[in-house]
Amino acid sequence: IEVPDKPIIPYIEGDGIGAEITPAMIHVVNAAVEKTYGGSKRIIWVEVLAGDKAEEKAGDRLPQETLEFLKEAVVGIKGPLGTPVGKGVRSINSALRRAFDFYSAVRPVYWMGQPTPIPDPQRVDVVVFRENTDDVYAGVEFFSGTDEAKKVREFLIKEMGAKEEGFPEDVGITVKPMSEFKTKRHVRKALRYALENGRKNVAVIGKGNIMKATEGAFINWAFEVAQEPEFADKVLTDPEAQPNEGQVKLSKVITDQMLMQLVLKPDAWDVVIAQNLNGDYVSDLAAALIGGPGFVPSGNIGDGYALFESTHGTAWDIAGKGIANPLSLTLSGAMMLEYIGWREAAQKIYEAVKKTFEDKVGTPDIAAGFKKLGIEAKAVSTYEYAQEIAKRIQ
Ligand code: NAD
Repeated sequence: IEVPDKPIIPYIEGDGIGAEITPAMIHVVNAAVEKTYGGSKRIIWVEVLAGDKAEEKAGDRLPQETLEFLKEAVVGIKGPLGTPVGKGVRSINSALRRAFDFYSAVRPVYWMGQPTPIPDPQRVDVVVFRENTDDVYAGVEFFSGTDEAKKVREFLIKEMGAKEEGFPEDVGITVKPMSEFKTKRHVRKALRYALENGRKNVAVIGKGNIMKATEGAFINWAFEVAQEPEFADKVLTDPEAQPNEGQVKLSKVITDQMLMQLVLKPDAWDVVIAQNLNGDYVSDLAAALIGGPGFVPSGNIGDGYALFESTHGTAWDIAGKGIANPLSLTLSGAMMLEYIGWREAAQKIYEAVKKTFEDKVGTPDIAAGFKKLGIEAKAVSTYEYAQEIAKRIQ
């Protein structure tokens, strides 16, 4: 996407450790942009309020003003936002997802040298595209023993020919909607990404053999997208095909196979296109291979707007101590730079982060990870770690 040389980029600081990791991210991103472009390009950061800070200052956890400001920009970035439990408060994260229709959640998972107990982590380099608006997250559920569940059960058995043995009287039911329109727009995003980034081996996953109307349909729709004029010459679907420059190969993989392959042959796939629930499983498993979600960035992408964010939560247990690991958000900042076309600056961040791992310096969780592997490492605070990264930007 096109942005001016001095784009205004809104950020939501986030609750809990947000106040620590967000300034750290901004420090690193600014250093990379400055080093890459001198003064010719620069981000003009504008804080917009959400979460605890917004509640304090505006009496609303997601003020209208914030939504309007975000809508004016084309990208934004956010720290973690907490959802108070049991107060009838809806998650701001899902409110944002709905307001902007962020239909694809994108998580690139790659190893940069951080401590991980898994052998050969350098083989992990996969981008998970998780559909973000469909699937069992629709929240349509009928609990066992309720009148609603009984009614649905009766309808399914009497009107729809469902077998009684599958629906005993004490059954609970969760609905799993999946639509052609939502699937296809998600698949198009993922295929465009693969083509633009030279990622050749693309898998669409699902248990289509069991859930034919949803996950099976998802896979079929993905292959229909591959036939569209935009993709027909570029997306190969023959299992024997060898993609050339400017082409990718789309394969169908059963979800459990994919989970196994990620562990046993993590370099087999470049991009995984998944439904909402499967995408959740796959992205966390992939993240675990390289040391956990704390090292993985994330982007929520819709049409015309993208919001990047850390993958972890507010970590109230360590908030205010200056020990939070800022990498997930910082790498999300780098992902945002790539998204606006400032790839060179993003690359500088990746290289600098790698150097901090080579030099064995990081926040206490990173230092502890190295120590577990018998490697000495220096523990520094959140902001000092950002400075260590910035110092290594070349
Ligand atoms: P959490 O990620 O906040 O914490 C889990 C554990 O990981 C804690 O021990 C924490 O100290 C540690 N941890 C997390 N991030 C860390 C970091 N950057 N550096 C070092 N240690 C880190 O998960 P939770 O406790 O399940 O959730 C807390 C709150 O965060 C909830 O209100 C939840 O709704 C919210 N949440 C928000 C998002 C988001 O904004 N996208 C995502 C997940 C959870």
